[in-house]
Amino acid sequence: MLREIIARLKQGHRTMAYPKEPVSLPQRFRGYPEFPATVERSDARACAEACPHGAITCDNGMALDTGRCLFCPECAAGGLVSFTTDHRLAATKREHLIVRPGGEHHLARPLEPSLRSLLGRSLKFREVSAGGCNACEADTNVLSTIGWDLGRFGIQFVASPRHADGLWVTGPVTENMREALLMTWEAIPAPKIVVACGACAIGGGPFADSPETHNGVADILPVDLFIPGCPPHPATILDGLLRLIGRIEGT
Ligand code: SF4
Repeated sequence: MLREIIARLKQGHRTMAYPKEPVSLPQRFRGYPEFPATVERSDARACAEACPHGAITCDNGMALDTGRCLFCPECAAGGLVSFTTDHRLAATKREHLIVRPGGEHHLARPLEPSLRSLLGRSLKFREVSAGGCNACEADTNVLSTIGWDLGRFGIQFVASPRHADGLWVTGPVTENMREALLMTWEAIPAPKIVVACGACAIGGGPFADSPETHNGVADILPVDLFIPGCPPHPATILDGLLRLIGRIEGT
């Protein structure tokens, strides 16, 4: 027993210090995309054609939709698009996920002060896996491990929607899961928030436009936080959540 206690003391504090200290991500991590401030139409078209998921458009100037992007990254082969290690991808408005040459990097904004005041220092979610592959759930679960310790911010996942302040949705919302999702939403007491976690929940991901899916939760329920990624890195999820509850402000 003494040996275990000594080993534990030697381990020290394992929970990461984010947001007090920056999160350390490997160079191969693909975060916020960037491209030159001006892009030739022909180059933009080549990028759009290279994207197998329709995340890049060039009709009205080049635009990369991080809500549709799976960070694969086929488009980077041409050298025009590159992916930084900036994990801050979450946004509170769907249109803020569209990255344009020279455009602003929109970050998630805090909830209304009245709602934050009502929530206090506690935010509880009921998670619904609405037909995804479970990768987003896996990275969401990582946040509850000792390395991230989401509970230190008062954020937890609960079993009953009656005990929740919001709905956490992963997956493209298949037709089979639609009713269960709506029933869970109804069971959460108002006021309530919705988080779309991952490319599928935002816009259907690789299942977009399938007749069996609803292209994400925003077609069905109002969404308060969009977290891009396939799946989103835990750092991306945590950053979006902390901005939503006002624990991180500014850049
Ligand atoms: S990284 Fe995103 S934008 Fe680029 S090709 Fe893959 S899905 Fe398309």
